[in-house]
Amino acid sequence: MNIKQIVLASRPKGIPQITNFRSEQIELPAIKTGEVLLKPIYFSVDPYMRGRMNDSKSYVQAFKLDQPIEGSALATVVESMSDLFQPGDIVLGMLLWRESIVASDKILQKVDATQQPLSYYLSVLGMTGITAYIGLMHICKPLAGETVVISGAGGAVGIVAGQIAKIQGCRVVGITGSEEKLRLIVGKYGFDEGINYKTTSYMNKAIDTICTDGVDVYFDNVGGQISDAVISNLNVQARVAICGQISLYNSTEIPMGPRIQQTLLTNNVMMQGFIVGNYKSEFPEAIQHLTQWVKEGKLDFTETIYEGFDQLPIAFIGLFAGENIGKMIVKV
Ligand code: NAP
Repeated sequence: MNIKQIVLASRPKGIPQITNFRSEQIELPAIKTGEVLLKPIYFSVDPYMRGRMNDSKSYVQAFKLDQPIEGSALATVVESMSDLFQPGDIVLGMLLWRESIVASDKILQKVDATQQPLSYYLSVLGMTGITAYIGLMHICKPLAGETVVISGAGGAVGIVAGQIAKIQGCRVVGITGSEEKLRLIVGKYGFDEGINYKTTSYMNKAIDTICTDGVDVYFDNVGGQISDAVISNLNVQARVAICGQISLYNSTEIPMGPRIQQTLLTNNVMMQGFIVGNYKSEFPEAIQHLTQWVKEGKLDFTETIYEGFDQLPIAFIGLFAGENIGKMIVKV
């Protein structure tokens, strides 16, 4: 079978460009025992994949030049030589950017597509929701009445983190990059206030004005100058979860900022980075709560869905221009 795949053509310097990707035709290998033939339905594109485009050591392997990109995806089993999966099953796994995929049954997990919209298993009920839950509930441990600030608030993780903080009875302030996202987080998702960092000249002052009682919890998705401003408004005993640093992912030089250690010291602040994959034992608890909140109507979600296999690189690059509201997904 002749199919299309998208490979890493070159490593980006700064913001990824469409020329860093190449689409090509290949002959798909026949499936062997223990393998299945898959037709992808949805691909997730995620900011961490930018790190995999660099030739550097990290917690996930770098993509190889001239080899297909890989990402989280949902697919239908078309043909099976595995005892674990039947044709028609819907599966979740880390899959290659190919129009059809031959995959080992060891990397796949069956999904019950009858309960919730299928794409939710890549978003609010998938790694996105789990990340928000673990960062907030296991690291920040917010208390009712505390002020929680969330950067990247109109994105996938941010929307969920903000709603979970509201469920805990907190006052929630979201920082995001467009008026449309501000309207969504405040109007639809119940954040108490929002700040558009692109139209705010003095972030430090804006946070000070809105967070009249200071900041008790900071869920950081972006880093950089936005975080500098939030950190300078932290209260005594504040907790900071470093979930992501997207504003720095395309840096070509070592980013510099203010020395924050003294603020952390004098305010007794706890700041912790986390990679969700290191919290697998907490996944069942996270999934149980997220599913329950979704069923109860306490947790809602937004997805930006691009259509067409060829849109994968465009959707991915769009993450760095803020083109997604909620989770960026590609339907193929
Ligand atoms: P996302 O927020 O849905 O998408 C990225 C968003 O980041 C964009 O829509 C854009 O929104 C914002 N952004 C892009 N460039 C920016 C910049 N220079 N400064 C400020 N904001 C910028 O992505 P996500 O999947 O929810 O991930 C959010 C963060 O969590 C990412 O940093 C990601 O790497 C991290 N993450 C970490 C883990 C973990 O295990 N620790 C797991 C999942 C995700 P605006 O319109 O607001 O600019």
